[in-house]
Amino acid sequence: MSVIVIVADGARPEAVAEGIAAGRLPALARLAAEGFHGRVTTVFPSVTGLAYVPMTMGRHPVAVGLPGLRWLDRARERTRAPHFTRSYLGWDMRYLSGDLDATAPTIFELSRPSFAALSMIGRGLATRDWIGRSLAWQLRGAWAHFRGSVDGWLAIDRQVADLSVRRIARDHPSYAMVALLGIDKLSHAFGCTDPRVDMALALVDDTVARIRADAERDGRWADMHLWVVSDHGHSPVHTHDDLADIIRNAGHRTIAHPRVRASMTSDVAVMVSGNAMAHLYLEPQRRQAAGWAAHAPRWEPLVHDLVSRPSADLVILPVDETTCEVRSARCGSAQVSSAGTLITYTPTDGDPLQLGPQPLRLSREASWERCAETAYPDALVQIAHLADAPRVGDIILSAAPGWDFRARFEPIPHRSTHGSLHRDHMWVPLLGNRPVTRPPQRTVDLFPSTLTALGLPPVAGSDGETFVAAS
Ligand SMILES: [Zn+2]
Repeated sequence: MSVIVIVADGARPEAVAEGIAAGRLPALARLAAEGFHGRVTTVFPSVTGLAYVPMTMGRHPVAVGLPGLRWLDRARERTRAPHFTRSYLGWDMRYLSGDLDATAPTIFELSRPSFAALSMIGRGLATRDWIGRSLAWQLRGAWAHFRGSVDGWLAIDRQVADLSVRRIARDHPSYAMVALLGIDKLSHAFGCTDPRVDMALALVDDTVARIRADAERDGRWADMHLWVVSDHGHSPVHTHDDLADIIRNAGHRTIAHPRVRASMTSDVAVMVSGNAMAHLYLEPQRRQAAGWAAHAPRWEPLVHDLVSRPSADLVILPVDETTCEVRSARCGSAQVSSAGTLITYTPTDGDPLQLGPQPLRLSREASWERCAETAYPDALVQIAHLADAPRVGDIILSAAPGWDFRARFEPIPHRSTHGSLHRDHMWVPLLGNRPVTRPPQRTVDLFPSTLTALGLPPVAGSDGETFVAAS
């Protein structure tokens, strides 16, 4: 058996459904007709790289040491002086594999032969089996990124698709993850509903068609699981509310990428991902996260100001290793806690997650169902993960629709954004060539499903539920 995962990075479920209905995506339409087509939730922060962790490691990214695309290393375990910060949007990308919890295996370590193309997660792969890992590829990607070159990104997608189709036909990997990034880049540059985004989606469809045709010709199709998924959604931005400037103008010494050298003499480190989410690290000199009660005397006025900004949809404050407080200007505050396998929601002064005024105590599965039709799909489980994650910020913001948190130093204009806990960013499409045994809920379900499909044993400590029948 083999599992081939195509990540249509940044594809919205609506775009896929509309493309199928309009006849623009014939290969995906065939998958939907013969197998499965639905939507699942990704993780918060809903950003590339982090959002590959559930699929490739069966874990939440914050649980294996990846809190965001930018973060402050309070414990100074993984970074160096003078600033002790990470940004995977630059050269720090090369440290990402080492930043991950070494005890949590990747699918590439479990399943051989395997290969990946433009996946930020690839620990366990040889360089020759990790397309996009080499320095030349990184430079090309950086060039297209910093020049905002649209044709460049489509050309990279085409090249990645060509190489991957050839590798799958030639090497018969038991697992392959192929990420095509054009949809995300074009969505940022032109808006997520721009017709140019459809060109990148058509390229995904074409890639699926070619992989299928090769597998059918060689008699491998009956033994292949082919899944198409995305890692986050997208939604239009009308205003960039630059958090670093706002906090600086409020009188606090503030650092943010790319100017982070003064982090150890600053009051607040602003680490934005997406750009519709941010971790704020208070008093970066502290070597340990303190919990909100310790910060409240000095920082409550800042949180009060942030909550009242129209850009801040939800403000999340880790309280201790089991609990986060959630605040919203319109809907008040509540606490989210995990107790064993159960998640509790306790409205304290309102109902910020729009789940009703009564306290809830739910399993992970029931939490997902309860949140599915709200503005914040899977919010209970996503927020519960933040409580017990040492690398997250002391204040975590999720942006309101139409807003993001970074106005400067972006090489591509951000007409569209992602990263938040809002449904526009949390829902992603999932298609597969076989019927499922149960409706998938989360992208983390891909991990145990891959293990089932390949006949591999379950991995202790991993999340998710398989949607594949044991063979
Ligand atoms: Zn993006």
